[in-house]
Amino acid sequence: MEASALSCPACRRLTHAAELEDLAKRAGAAWRVGEFTLERTLWAQSLPLLPEETVQHRTIQARIGEIDQQRSGSAGAPESHWRQKVSMGAGPLLLLALTKGKFLLLGLTKIGTLLTMLASLGVYWAMYGWAFALGLVVSIYIHEMGHVAAIRRYGFPASAPMFIPGFGAFIQLRGIRLPPIPEARVGLAGPLYGFGAAVAALGCYYATHAPIWAVIAHFGAIINFFNLIPVWQLDGSRGLRSLTRAQRGIVLATAVGLWMITASPMLLLISAGCAYRLFTRDWQSEPDGEGLMQFVGLLVAFSAIAALSAGPAAISATR
Ligand SMILES: [Zn+2]
Repeated sequence: MEASALSCPACRRLTHAAELEDLAKRAGAAWRVGEFTLERTLWAQSLPLLPEETVQHRTIQARIGEIDQQRSGSAGAPESHWRQKVSMGAGPLLLLALTKGKFLLLGLTKIGTLLTMLASLGVYWAMYGWAFALGLVVSIYIHEMGHVAAIRRYGFPASAPMFIPGFGAFIQLRGIRLPPIPEARVGLAGPLYGFGAAVAALGCYYATHAPIWAVIAHFGAIINFFNLIPVWQLDGSRGLRSLTRAQRGIVLATAVGLWMITASPMLLLISAGCAYRLFTRDWQSEPDGEGLMQFVGLLVAFSAIAALSAGPAAISATR
């Protein structure tokens, strides 16, 4: 086909304008929910309908290149290279020690973890020592695995951040702009997995009546609560990104209601963050029902776990 046939030589109008508009709309919708493979297909379909010297053609080609680059796993390459080097040098044991050590160190320097633990960390540490530390580290690790799983589900390479709790998953994603819905899902995937870890710890408490499990469940709930405060780069901030202003209001009302029932200071901080986010003008115009359900559900779930584990955890500290 000749390029000139793609637009009218007299008025420069695009021959396939309606079709192109439809493809662009569908590609935009695919982008919003993170279906990047579909988005790429739709852009690729629209390319042959556009004359090559147009701005649209160049923009679409750039976007396709961007998607391909995100998918090619350039971020994963240095890690596998590093892994290879280490295992060739000193074997898998050293690798394990290195990654676990890095993980432990970063997990404990993470500001959220620090702040929430400071109050009673020393007491529990003195009582349970390594068992308590290990329980918390495993809880945080499972939380991080949630982020990694969600990032991978959207087709991005995410191997290294597994061992960098808190912000690791997002260090890797810097430079990649995630649409609102994928960003919210990736953000709340951590607390969702964290909920699983806390439920498991609580289950172990009911099964064994060993108070250490109640302590681990309790701190797990508090750490996840902290991460749900919707400010800075915390998970809660990402979780609110896909919601409308009214939906943020519902999250705020839920947090306030739960705070009145449980008196948890974390819920007060989450409420304050939600109130602030009613005015940050970064809300969406299209509602995200699933995202709202996730956020509200997590607040209720962690309130329940914090309340159920608070008694046994407090009793164990007074013993
Ligand atoms: Zn997180």
